[in-house]
Amino acid sequence: MNETLYSLRMHASRGGEHLSGAEELTTQPHLETLAAALVRRALGHPRGAAESIQITVEAVDAGRVRRGVLPDLRTLSVTDFRQGRKAAAALLETAGISALAATAAITALEKGASPSGKSMRGAMLIDATSGKRLEPDASRGVRASRMGLTPGAAALLRERLSARGLDNPHVREALVLAAKVLSVPGIAAELCWSDDPDYTAGYVAALQLGYVRLTHLKPVGEERGGRAFFVRPGHGDINGIIEQLERSPLLIDEIGAIGGSAPWKEER
Ligand code: AMP
Repeated sequence: MNETLYSLRMHASRGGEHLSGAEELTTQPHLETLAAALVRRALGHPRGAAESIQITVEAVDAGRVRRGVLPDLRTLSVTDFRQGRKAAAALLETAGISALAATAAITALEKGASPSGKSMRGAMLIDATSGKRLEPDASRGVRASRMGLTPGAAALLRERLSARGLDNPHVREALVLAAKVLSVPGIAAELCWSDDPDYTAGYVAALQLGYVRLTHLKPVGEERGGRAFFVRPGHGDINGIIEQLERSPLLIDEIGAIGGSAPWKEER
């Protein structure tokens, strides 16, 4: 892919609150269709139609584009969101996140991580040892941005996800986002559940674990969701980490394995 790449970002709000956002990294022939699809998404949001939609298109500096790989995906089935959160905490601990930090993230997402008690626009940055919040703005958070798939990788991903009944925008976009987050050396792991009231699945991602989908991380009808990016101890410059998450372009040209589903078993 030697054509110019463009970062396409959408941010929609309703009632002065964040409603929906999306990011893509793509070439010129796809821009119009993708932008139209994002406008449609914001207008048809399950929490109500967007009242304000911002679309930003920016050419990215070709010299800065890194190549990336999607993490392997597997699913752990859990009976309900309580078991899902227990599983998420256990997985995070396997990835080197302290129990304190894992609990702090889960509690914040449960309560609504922005100061208004609603979902944030972006992610929390959480110190992987102390559990302290590190993002400079607790409403906006940090948005992972400027990432996307090559057309070949996108087609192969859809084929592999389809074989597992998982070819939907939630999973596709979250895998790309997790790849971007895990490509930043200062980040150890990610936890996510959606703010879409109808979508209860979520995931934990880390280099050691890949992308582990948990079938329930919140009850149906719950609008509070969000993301936590866990920052490695001794990470150094937090602004450098934010700059990489938000501005450094990552083009994914290789996808990982899409595994099956197994029930989660608590280790005793
Ligand atoms: P979604 O998976 O789109 O339902 O998003 C769930 C939550 O994750 C949102 O409410 C945001 O708090 C957060 N989020 C969504 N997209 C991003 C992103 N690109 N970077 C960081 N956080 C995000």
